[in-house]
Amino acid sequence: MSEVTKLTLSELRAGLQSGELSSTAIVSAYHDAYLADTKARDPLNGYVEWFEDALELAEAADAARRAGSRSSELLGLPIAVKDNILIKGRSLTCASEILQGFIAPYSATVIERLLAAGMIPVGRTNMDEFAMGSSCEYSCYGPARNPMDRTRTTGGSSGGSAAVVAGNQAPVALGSETGGSVRLPASFCGVYGLKPSYGSLSRYGLVAFGSSLDQIGIVGRCPRDIALILSVAAGRDPKDQTSADTDFAPLGASLAPRELAGLRMAIPQEFLAEGLDPEVRQVLDSFVDWARASGATVETISLPILDASVAIYYIIAPAEASSNLARYDGVRYGYREKEIANLFELYERTRSRGFGKEVKRRILLGNYVLSSGYYDAYYKKAQGVRTLLIREVGEVLARYDLILSPTAPTPAFALGSKVDDPLAMYLSDIYTTFANLALLPSLSLPAGHTAQGLPVGVQITGRRFAEGLLLSCAESWHEKGGLR
Ligand code: GLN
Repeated sequence: MSEVTKLTLSELRAGLQSGELSSTAIVSAYHDAYLADTKARDPLNGYVEWFEDALELAEAADAARRAGSRSSELLGLPIAVKDNILIKGRSLTCASEILQGFIAPYSATVIERLLAAGMIPVGRTNMDEFAMGSSCEYSCYGPARNPMDRTRTTGGSSGGSAAVVAGNQAPVALGSETGGSVRLPASFCGVYGLKPSYGSLSRYGLVAFGSSLDQIGIVGRCPRDIALILSVAAGRDPKDQTSADTDFAPLGASLAPRELAGLRMAIPQEFLAEGLDPEVRQVLDSFVDWARASGATVETISLPILDASVAIYYIIAPAEASSNLARYDGVRYGYREKEIANLFELYERTRSRGFGKEVKRRILLGNYVLSSGYYDAYYKKAQGVRTLLIREVGEVLARYDLILSPTAPTPAFALGSKVDDPLAMYLSDIYTTFANLALLPSLSLPAGHTAQGLPVGVQITGRRFAEGLLLSCAESWHEKGGLR
């Protein structure tokens, strides 16, 4: 039974189709794994809730399959969902006190599509509050732990999603990305993590953080599993005017490893500078050796504007967040402070108590950069530099197929080591944010280990809507080389 929890989504799907496995067996194996782990001395804490009706849904899926239902291609397969993606009728909290008691009145479009394909959401995963953070420690449920070393963080903010996939408690999970929140935990936990192009997946029903950057992302054990989810969930949604009319449906059925011969990859030298852990560098170097041996051209380039990406991100994301989070006022959602004298006190006390310190820091920062007198100096300037970055990264991607880099400057860091040092925490995003700012698809793949056995990810970023290229290159790595 325990072996079941180690299979990929594609293998589980094949098992269901051949009749060797049942959805009930799969979901209960994951449930058992989760329950056993909650009793450990230092549990993963990847789930903030396991859905108690998941097993019933699995039984219903098995019954539907026995009755000959073939229409739903992911029928009866489990998926874990980050606590900021709405599932109708279920609690949703963004790991925040301020949303305690909130029940989702509708499902996100991505969830609707996965449900229509027959998938079973099995639980909500832990995260940094409102997806603000790089370690999954700013959570009202306490930190998630790294399955590879439980004294370390999972990375954030979708740490719970990476923890349950890497820790054999779910085959695949949804996370979200504003500046690296799927790729960073994927790198720290040794799994694959995709941030799709802006617009590939509908944002309807994803709780807004930085709306011009946000995107639902996917964590999986192999590129094919990510392709399966993407193929079902992507495509234009009338409820999100920024969603794009992509057609990733063929990817699900036919993701094949891609010959690397003829591919051109660029490594920005700015991402190899000071601060890069030597062991991470070594893993990147061996990935480069593999890419070259497989026929790709890999060149180091200079793209100085990348040095500005963290600075631009930490102006634009908090600015958008300060506006998006204004809606949590004690009137409309979740938590409400009682015994208040007037409306202002209701706002003030609800928000003071309901939000954690990192979220408050972002709200302050965002209001500051948007205030008159500072707007031009910070917000407008950051928007201008973002436009330049989009143009310059675009020029590189006109000459190269992929931008190759480490995903993060270090392997998973120790729990507690950065929680009180926001700048150090922000610098974990040094290689990831540019892809969000430039609206591009970017994938972290498990590429090696440190001498201590910690996973290290490598990141490939492509042209907008080139998810197919990223996934097929990753599939080639997975099949022929993989994480050694
Ligand atoms: N770590 C970044 C932040 O704290 C990115 C978060 C994210 O991608 N949601 O804002």
